[in-house]
Amino acid sequence: MKLKLHTQILLGMILGAAFGAGVRKLAPYLPLLADLPGIIEPVGTLFIRLITMVVIPLVFASLVLGIASIGDITRLARIGGKTLGYYIVTTALAVTIGLVLADAVRPGSRLDESAQQELVKEYQPSEGKLPERKPVKDMIVEMVPRNPVAAAAQGDMLPVIVFAVLFGLALSMLEHDRTRSLIGFLDGLNGAMIVIVNWVMKLAPYGVFALIAVVVARFGAGVLQSLLLYVLVVVGALVVHLLGILGTSLALFARVNPLRFLKRSVDVASMAFATSSSSATLPVSMRCSTERHGISPEITSFVLPLGATINMNGTALYQGVAAAFIAEVYGMGLTLFEHLEIVLTATLAAVGAAGVPGAGIITLILVLQTIGIPVEGIALILGVDRILDMCRTAVNVMGDLTAAAFVARTEGEQIAN
Ligand code: ASP
Repeated sequence: MKLKLHTQILLGMILGAAFGAGVRKLAPYLPLLADLPGIIEPVGTLFIRLITMVVIPLVFASLVLGIASIGDITRLARIGGKTLGYYIVTTALAVTIGLVLADAVRPGSRLDESAQQELVKEYQPSEGKLPERKPVKDMIVEMVPRNPVAAAAQGDMLPVIVFAVLFGLALSMLEHDRTRSLIGFLDGLNGAMIVIVNWVMKLAPYGVFALIAVVVARFGAGVLQSLLLYVLVVVGALVVHLLGILGTSLALFARVNPLRFLKRSVDVASMAFATSSSSATLPVSMRCSTERHGISPEITSFVLPLGATINMNGTALYQGVAAAFIAEVYGMGLTLFEHLEIVLTATLAAVGAAGVPGAGIITLILVLQTIGIPVEGIALILGVDRILDMCRTAVNVMGDLTAAAFVARTEGEQIAN
């Protein structure tokens, strides 16, 4: 029997979780098992590396081809404007939902003193462990690469996107004769990357099994108890955003049935959940966008790579809740103006977060520092960050896909319904 990809991924996750929980329970009695998570971890890492390996060549080739085929600068500017507008508006709405829910439930006020001290003791980030945050102006300047090859070599997606857009545009200005062989080359490169993605996805159930098993085996369930309310607020707000905002956008603007859209995207959401990485999920979301939603390769190759790098609805929402939670634990009341500041900085901080695991908690520093909330408070929430990372990454990639549907529809494309 041939199972569908999402069934395979979900099965991998369920078995991984069961296996990880078993290892956790039995490891105190069977010391040999204690090493097991470390032994199977490379399987998950290998899977993520394999899929991440294709990202830069895939994004470059498909984006240049897409831009060269759009050709028309006004249309391109319109698509770019719509995409960025959609990203900014949905991200700001996401933070707002997170803050409203955090204010209503106030998870920080219910964390008692002893639980607080326990958490800080256990997860105190060691000196220098929290990387320095980058100033916003540096983030903007560094979008333009000094050397596109170096940016590609380092896997810096945003500069590669900027270069690919200019390169594609330039190609569209030349006569067809001069570009035919280059376009043929990029088309072959793009096609070969898609073949590799298809191969790698055959390993998805095993990779996902290993990733989830390791997370579950290492997860301290005690942390969950004291932070349960905080976790529930983040997850609840993510669900409200997914169904409320993204769902409404699908129904109203993209004119597709949101539930059917979600069902067709389940591979993408589960891949994001298992890997906690928008970048690693990108090849799968690009494939889903063109093959399952029927969105054109031109729009897919522009909207999705940009989204995987700068559009993080889930991350921004989580940062809003985290900031409100930490402020409350430290007894700080937030004014209306500070709420607005959180919306603004969390939107920016999410743009600055790379699509890799744990990036969101690093750029959370930007939000905390701007408002004057003690950065050490991050230690309080570190213990549950990985599970929340999985959930927020799933919403991040769904935000990208709904943007592609919105742009495609408003550009007059017929998409699957
Ligand atoms: N892991 C997230 C992503 O890749 C970023 C984050 O919030 O940490 O989309």
